[in-house]
Amino acid sequence: MLLKHTTKEIKERTALTVNPAKTCQPIGAMYAALGIHGCLPHSHGSQGCYAYHRSSLTRHYKEPVMAATSAFTEGASVFGGQANLLQAIDNMFTVYKPDLIAVHTTCLSETIGDDIPQIVSKAVADGKVPAGKYVIHANTPSYVGSHVTGFSTMTKAMVDYFAEPGGKKNGTINIVPGYVEPSDMEEVKRICSTMGIEIILFPDTSKVLNGPLTGRFHMYPEGGVTVEALKKTGRSRGTVALGNIASSAAAFALDTKCKVPYKLLDLPIGLHGTDMFIDTLRQIAGVNVPDSLTFERGQMVDIISDMHQYFYGKKVGLVGDPDQLLALTKFLVSLDMRPIHIVTGTPAGKKFGAELREAVKDVPCDVNIQLGGDMFLFHQLVKNDPVDLLIGNTYVKYIAKDEDIPFIRHGFPIFDRIGHSYLPTVGYRGGIMLLEKILNALLDRKDRDATDITMELVM
Ligand code: SF4
Repeated sequence: MLLKHTTKEIKERTALTVNPAKTCQPIGAMYAALGIHGCLPHSHGSQGCYAYHRSSLTRHYKEPVMAATSAFTEGASVFGGQANLLQAIDNMFTVYKPDLIAVHTTCLSETIGDDIPQIVSKAVADGKVPAGKYVIHANTPSYVGSHVTGFSTMTKAMVDYFAEPGGKKNGTINIVPGYVEPSDMEEVKRICSTMGIEIILFPDTSKVLNGPLTGRFHMYPEGGVTVEALKKTGRSRGTVALGNIASSAAAFALDTKCKVPYKLLDLPIGLHGTDMFIDTLRQIAGVNVPDSLTFERGQMVDIISDMHQYFYGKKVGLVGDPDQLLALTKFLVSLDMRPIHIVTGTPAGKKFGAELREAVKDVPCDVNIQLGGDMFLFHQLVKNDPVDLLIGNTYVKYIAKDEDIPFIRHGFPIFDRIGHSYLPTVGYRGGIMLLEKILNALLDRKDRDATDITMELVM
């Protein structure tokens, strides 16, 4: 009973969050920055914040996450962090030789009001930024938003700093993948390559945070979108943005700056989500869907049809990031499952709430949707109306243990399992992976609870 103080009675809270269902903005900004090749993320704030951002990413990806900090002490906290950032930029380019530095702010530097573009201009004027190297920035105060909005802001900064307007449009398609795993980005690239479509995926953390162990340390792994590719995004035929909350800002900025039209889609999770993604690519690129993808789709449909009786009517509690929740909810509803508690810690807005409500309108029972909620509330909802399955990040395991409910890990952070960095949940193959996880959780529980009489060999 690790959460024995969680009461069943729900009281309205406005000023207190207990066990947040999100992490802080700079973590998402740092994650996005790692998706640029040769980039050294830089946390403009205290060492404590930076240690938290780095350790969260390191624990989730089980990879060494390289980043730097302005290392604020009392002096910077009072007089501002300009001197620290100037020194840091000089040190980083001299010692670690990145292609670019991506600065994100923290609660402290935002409260002080440090003007990052002004400080960077001074660094350039002082000759601290070598020719051909760059410093970009994103404002990420963590008293608003979450890691998802931090990711979104840093991804938009890639457009603001690098996308070049003008020039003849080419056949390339930009894809903004959303706050997903490196494995998911890899899968998006595989699908596009199977369709023969040239893309620029940004950010791209595949081969950065899911690389092999080779015995050699690479400060800047081989993956990541290059600055040259980012410059070319302004000449692409179109942009596909996956997930409104994490990706729309960059896509909109690209449209405004370079007149590259965009299409906004859900994350390609599940059959319908993946169908929409592939069909959109087909239309924009003017290509046919290859048989190999149709084959994968058929395999997924086969599994759903073979095992539908185990999905049917199962109640699910979901907590996590908004884009993931929306796509997952639609997927679960399509399996005839019943997502009845849906909680996100990221304040996602009325439009998102309306979309989520639309997604569950045919679920034949009451559905609780909480935007800007926390894990404590999620636990209370589960206590009041128990479910057959929980889906969420590592922190949900305490609820799962206390309430004795099957649980699958999905989202960020996952500190206590591996696989998420290597095995996708997007696309048809990812959907099969997700179906397997859901089924394993449900059927393991069925086996555990079976008596000698009801134990089934064939399921
Ligand atoms: S102080 Fe702000 S930026 Fe730093 S770790 Fe806490 S929430 Fe994140």
